[in-house]
Amino acid sequence: MASQALYPECSSSQSTDGNFSAQSLTFKQRHIGPDSHYVKKMLGVLEVKTLDDLIDKVIPPNIRLNRFLQLPTALSEYAALGNLKNIAAQNQVFRSFIGMGYYQCIIPAVIQRNILENPGWYTAYTPYQPEIAQGRLEALLNFQTMIIDLTGLEIANASLLDEGTAAAEAMNMSYGATKHKTHNFFVSQDCHPQTIDVLQTRARPLGINIIIGNHITFDFSQPIFGAVLQYPASDGSIYKYHVFIEQAHAEGALVTVAADPLSLTLLEPPGEFGADIAVGSTQRFGSPMGYGGPHAGYFATKEKYKRQVPGRVVGVSKDTHGNIAYRLSLQTREQHIRREKATSNICTAQVLLAVIASMYAVYHGAAGLKVIALEIHQHTVTLAEGLKQLGYNITNKYFFDTLRVDLGPRSVKDILAACKLKKINLRLFSDSSVGISLDETTTIKDIEDLLGIFAGNSHTPSRKLLPPQLPLEISRTSNYLTHPVFNSYHSETELLRYLHKLELKDLSLTTSMIPLGSCTMKLNATSEMMPVTWPEFSNIHPFAPQSQTKGYQVIFQQLENWLAEITGLAGVSLQPNAGSQGEYAGLLVIRKYNESRREGHRNICLIPTSAHGTNPASAVMCGMKVVPVACDNGGNIDIDDLKAKAEKHSRELAALMVTYPSTHGVFEVAIQEICGVIHDHGGQVYMDGANMNAQVGLCRPGDIGADVCHLNLHKTFCIPHGGGGPGMGPIGVAIHLKPFLPGHSIVEIGDELSMGTVSSAPWGSSSILLISWMYIVMMGADGLTDATKVAILNANYIAKRLESYYPVLYKGTNGLVAHECILDLRSFKKSAGVEIDDVAKRLMDFGFHAPTVSWPVAGTIMVEPTESESLPELERFCEAMITIRKEISEIESGKVDVEDNLLKNAPHTATNLLTAKWNHPYSREQAAYPLPWVKNNKFWPAVGRVNAAFGDRNFICSCIPMETYSQE
Ligand SMILES: *Cc1c(COP(=O)(O)O)cnc(C)c1O
Repeated sequence: MASQALYPECSSSQSTDGNFSAQSLTFKQRHIGPDSHYVKKMLGVLEVKTLDDLIDKVIPPNIRLNRFLQLPTALSEYAALGNLKNIAAQNQVFRSFIGMGYYQCIIPAVIQRNILENPGWYTAYTPYQPEIAQGRLEALLNFQTMIIDLTGLEIANASLLDEGTAAAEAMNMSYGATKHKTHNFFVSQDCHPQTIDVLQTRARPLGINIIIGNHITFDFSQPIFGAVLQYPASDGSIYKYHVFIEQAHAEGALVTVAADPLSLTLLEPPGEFGADIAVGSTQRFGSPMGYGGPHAGYFATKEKYKRQVPGRVVGVSKDTHGNIAYRLSLQTREQHIRREKATSNICTAQVLLAVIASMYAVYHGAAGLKVIALEIHQHTVTLAEGLKQLGYNITNKYFFDTLRVDLGPRSVKDILAACKLKKINLRLFSDSSVGISLDETTTIKDIEDLLGIFAGNSHTPSRKLLPPQLPLEISRTSNYLTHPVFNSYHSETELLRYLHKLELKDLSLTTSMIPLGSCTMKLNATSEMMPVTWPEFSNIHPFAPQSQTKGYQVIFQQLENWLAEITGLAGVSLQPNAGSQGEYAGLLVIRKYNESRREGHRNICLIPTSAHGTNPASAVMCGMKVVPVACDNGGNIDIDDLKAKAEKHSRELAALMVTYPSTHGVFEVAIQEICGVIHDHGGQVYMDGANMNAQVGLCRPGDIGADVCHLNLHKTFCIPHGGGGPGMGPIGVAIHLKPFLPGHSIVEIGDELSMGTVSSAPWGSSSILLISWMYIVMMGADGLTDATKVAILNANYIAKRLESYYPVLYKGTNGLVAHECILDLRSFKKSAGVEIDDVAKRLMDFGFHAPTVSWPVAGTIMVEPTESESLPELERFCEAMITIRKEISEIESGKVDVEDNLLKNAPHTATNLLTAKWNHPYSREQAAYPLPWVKNNKFWPAVGRVNAAFGDRNFICSCIPMETYSQE
């Protein structure tokens, strides 16, 4: 391998002679933590001469990519933003009246700046360490409370990926809850078409038979296990669903209502007319349309289904001191514990967007939301009356914000031409009818413009807002959002402080490294984030005509090409909204390919026991049977077991799911042989690309033998984790699988052979693809490759620094690890009574977020520093770990009590330390400031250790009354 010069010799912008003529730092140098000086130092510790020597030792030579990636030359932040501005100018922002679940909305500026654009919120990790995540857990509890109130149901989860997949999760839950007694599922023809697409794709592999029909005329002599209805219907009509639901219940079926949450401030909520499940999107609660996303889907149901709910649920529990504390509840439902028996494969969801939606409700309060909804409705009434005066027929009997207009003798072409002049988009139902959806941004001027379009040449008089037209029989009479949180922060000062108070409770990348193995918490550069809220990108409806989205098409085309080059695969789909969705999409591609070659019976999916929980959960969603493959003592796939299983299931073998480098953090030398075995038996290799940060520029899944690979753009390609989402999980496929990639029926993409639709929007969460685009543009081929090399260097440095204190569980052939390392802490349970959680919580006292705990091996932690962390930060982390090891030694030697010690009592909160009486055998200083530098950047955990079991036994997933707090 030709050695590439890493870092120019001069890495400082200030030259030695004191003038500032030397070149300034490139983006690559700002993204990668250690400069050349530190790199040299670290290589010295590893006793390796150059970075390339290190890489040669880590990555098996036979899989190396011996050339640079073919990517454009790196641009500076300024130049990249300039280029992107030009691309953005190719998008045309029309006023959108398309509706279909996506609406223009107004994000309150205080929320935009202080949450959406604030790294204190968007760089946080999923709240698995609740003591340092109370802020977003509280915001999510507010979200759940808001959903519970609006839908009139009993429990809600903390978000799903979008409305379509939420409906699919509801179908799946209904199927399980009714014990598969029939395979028929009714889908109202009045659902949003993209939701129907997602449902059909999900139903097929599970053998569910979807019956699309009219809920009024549906014949219940056909058995169904469930049904989904849209409320208001996709064309805007408001139906009373009571009768249908009663009949469905009489047949033992569960009914899901996909409801627009804003309409529920005025309309009778689903829970009150009998729905078992409500799903939908909270997009119009302050999340820009973003040409498809990201937005938070929601899911609410009855308490009796709490163990079947998909996704994460935040619950109320208490800490060791008896204080109220929040944490993720009922985790035993989730894929990381239940694997192929999980309720769903959802891992990353839409936390940041759920936080935004909840704060939108906090900002407006119940009264404010109602005013917004009423005004939208009154504008719609005004429009309807105007259209009637012009002689048009409105087909909706009752409506909230959407009208379906019969064009009568007017030609649709005519209307569209007039729309274009006014830069207005409507929904096209047919050649003779259009849909118009109004929203929070609609003004009387918009109504006049719309009426002008429909009036043709005739004069349109100015309009006055008409009174609402919602008869009592469909109106909401119950209260909602009565909790003080929705009624206390209506001055901006109060809200700003509330947002800031919550932000301060959460440890994010703004405080310290979050070294989460497999999750790749790297820099989310500000320049990468800025374009997300540019109006040219954020104010575009996902079903706007492609002639208006040329800028986005450029981004997609380039990103697809670059990701194809990076993975060595032929085709890319940007549709899946998370890694889990990439797995699901990729396996369905394989399934469809097998069907196309008359091998549709292949349904065995081999999955190593070390795999991430989403892998088996996704395989089951695709109708596959999971056969586990053992790992050997070195953490590698047991080749003999693999061969035996592949042989045994040869005829039925569909796929192997394999993570590379392995979830044990090692480049398995035998990977090509492994892929060969699968191919020899007619199977396909699915590579889980979560560990792509160890491959980019150095080796490629396609070259290694993968047929499909998903990428977690929220890991490797800089989309921030958002505290548990958004994410993006595009897939790359080999040439023979390209025709089967996801399609979409509204925005026509995908081949005829497409496996279907996996997200509501054709390119998933389009607006955050800009982040990955910026990253690649600013890094260029050599920057990306250097990032990978330094990620590997950083991990090996930590392994080396800590190995005499904690055994490194797995290493490659040269005694080196890949981009992460597993530290074995299992022996301390016996020697000191110290559990893995004690170490994780003690790290909080040092201001660190724990690495990945007990995965993939129980009792261990997996550390992934990423390339973005510089040597001083790595050193601080290592010092913290070494100090903790000393604290453990003192327990081991009997010097310190086994129960009452620094680890068992961690984390230490300020309230808990600042008491008059102190009766622990260590000092308060030792607890709070275990190392001198901690004083300088002290992060205080908001609560003491959270008791998870208590909360699961006493399940509460909505805001608790304020009095409960004052009783504490
Ligand atoms: C993160 C991860 C996933 C799941 O990705 P999500 O985006 O959270 O759905 C799958 N496999 C591995 C190995 C991962 O680390």
